[in-house]
Amino acid sequence: MKLSIAAVALCFSGVRGFGTTSRAFLPSKVPSSSLVPTTFTTKSATSLLRHIHPRSFTSLSASVARLAEPQGQLLSTVDVFIFDCDGVIWRGDSLIDGIPETLEKLRSAGKKCFFVTNNSTKSRAGYKKKFDSLGLDVAAEEIFSSSFAAAAYLEQSKFLEKKAGKKVYVIGEIGICDELDLIGVPYIGGPADEGKQPEMVSGAKVDHDEDVGAVIVGFDRHINYYKIQYAQLCINENEDCEFIATNLDAVTHLTDAQEWAGNGSMVGAIKGCTGQEPNLVGKPSPLMIDYIAEKEGLDRSRICMVGDRLDTDILFGKNNGLKTCLVLSGVTSEEKLLGPENEVAPDFYADSIADFFVKETA
Ligand SMILES: [Mg+2]
Repeated sequence: MKLSIAAVALCFSGVRGFGTTSRAFLPSKVPSSSLVPTTFTTKSATSLLRHIHPRSFTSLSASVARLAEPQGQLLSTVDVFIFDCDGVIWRGDSLIDGIPETLEKLRSAGKKCFFVTNNSTKSRAGYKKKFDSLGLDVAAEEIFSSSFAAAAYLEQSKFLEKKAGKKVYVIGEIGICDELDLIGVPYIGGPADEGKQPEMVSGAKVDHDEDVGAVIVGFDRHINYYKIQYAQLCINENEDCEFIATNLDAVTHLTDAQEWAGNGSMVGAIKGCTGQEPNLVGKPSPLMIDYIAEKEGLDRSRICMVGDRLDTDILFGKNNGLKTCLVLSGVTSEEKLLGPENEVAPDFYADSIADFFVKETA
């Protein structure tokens, strides 16, 4: 898929704000407090504060409205919905109740729907298969994954033209590799480096490819020391080698039994050994919303970002001038949303997107 020149300019200008050349923009875009896991302390701290000072629990409740009258509060002022996937459309491999009917009603009402996920383990085509398997009729063009965003970023920044003969080193899974294949960018690493271990005998070293011009770090269930060392060598020793992160999510949900270390941990490992900040392409970076808004010619004031995470989805919407709606069908509880530690206020919140339509009574 090709971008218009205007889209390229928009996207590139947005991404630069997260790069190493324009660090002044970073604090306003990605507060450091939003990049660290807070869930392990939130519950106990909130309970304690409620006990000590009951009014503090409702610090945000005055400014965050529960969606009670969806037609007037939301549907009459929104033409386009951008949905996060995990915790909004599905949990793991299970569809959330009422989703097919709600999406059908939204489409019947003339609303456009897009689906944006920070999970880079699948390509757009991979996500299309997942939607199909869940019985949801969604076009590939309506899906935006951070694996696609990483490839789109390279395409927009003219990697092939400006870095002729260069390739990408991938920490991540097949989704990133599939997207790079689609735009013809050569790469090494990824699943091919699964299980590799560097030799640690006297005089041993990892030989790295000096033609690696960018390292992409995405979620990788097979991260290992070899991959970290390889990425470190490319970024520290190759001239003008970019460091690109698909996302910085602190935790993710591999199973429903607990939270698991997210891509923030993999990006953190590379930051730690290079001292470099990555160019971020997933939420809350503006790249994907810039792409969608420009491509579709959308009025941002009539777009609503719907997600289950405050530090990625809602921040992404607020940073980019969108309406925002938090749903409680994923990782964020009402207690956490309204608790004293939360500083990210969506415009509305609801139990799930099924609440976008008032349930018909018999
Ligand atoms: Mg989610």
